[in-house]
Amino acid sequence: MHEIPKNHPRYKSLIFREKLVQGFRDGYVAIQGLIAHGRGECFDYLIGEKTLEPAIKSMKAAIAALLLAEKPVISVNGNIAALTPAEIVELADEVNAAIEVNLFYRTEDRAEKIAKILYEYGAKEVLGIKDATATIPELHSERRRVSPKGILKADVVLVPLEDGDRTEALRKLGKTVIAIDLNPLSRTARAANITIVDNVIRAMPKMIELAKEMKSLNKNELQSILNNYRNEEVLAEIINQIILRLTKLSSNVKTLVINP
Ligand code: ATP
Repeated sequence: MHEIPKNHPRYKSLIFREKLVQGFRDGYVAIQGLIAHGRGECFDYLIGEKTLEPAIKSMKAAIAALLLAEKPVISVNGNIAALTPAEIVELADEVNAAIEVNLFYRTEDRAEKIAKILYEYGAKEVLGIKDATATIPELHSERRRVSPKGILKADVVLVPLEDGDRTEALRKLGKTVIAIDLNPLSRTARAANITIVDNVIRAMPKMIELAKEMKSLNKNELQSILNNYRNEEVLAEIINQIILRLTKLSSNVKTLVINP
């Protein structure tokens, strides 16, 4: 990895970029994944690179859905394996979910490399490698290949970094879909049951924290969190917060003062 000076104003963001680039060099992040991350970063700028309150609401509903699920599955692609591998394993542990590798640009080599990383971080089982023998109807990308033990049977699927087509296909199969997507306007964001508009880098640790707290709630309490959740309202709140923020910024643009 490139050495990033610690005092660089965008240090954190550059470190995560480097992780993705390294993942690409190691052969498990798709080159298109780098573009997808850039689109995410753009929306992160708009929300102020922090977790907004409506996203916390979505995370709570997501954890409630995962804890109530009979067969929860966390779907993993190259980007998420590069950005938050430890958190995927820990969250799966906390909510008792299976982990499945599912790739848009699938090759067996990439799938195996991702599984290897997850095992290194302590995953007990990673589905979707040799066992991706079932297919999701109406889906034409490689993402249609799923494990009969995992996504095919799942009632709740957490899909950090998803594409709209697959979200819709999973919904049509009757699954509850939880997406993490920085773009509140994407098809994924609008097709999922629960959309967490936040950067996976911030959302995953926060979800682990919430899972630890919410595990002590009983089924009725979890169900009531879920019943009171409205995805369209949360997306509208996020869009409104972006509008407010940009309106404020536009009335007080601060250019950088640079002394030669
Ligand atoms: P859709 O098909 O849902 O309309 P898209 O074509 O924009 O979406 P892709 O290009 O497949 O989707 O995926 C990129 C999506 O992932 C973008 O919506 C982007 O906001 C989101 N994204 C990328 N990196 C992150 C990240 N680190 N955290 C959260 N979301 C991210």
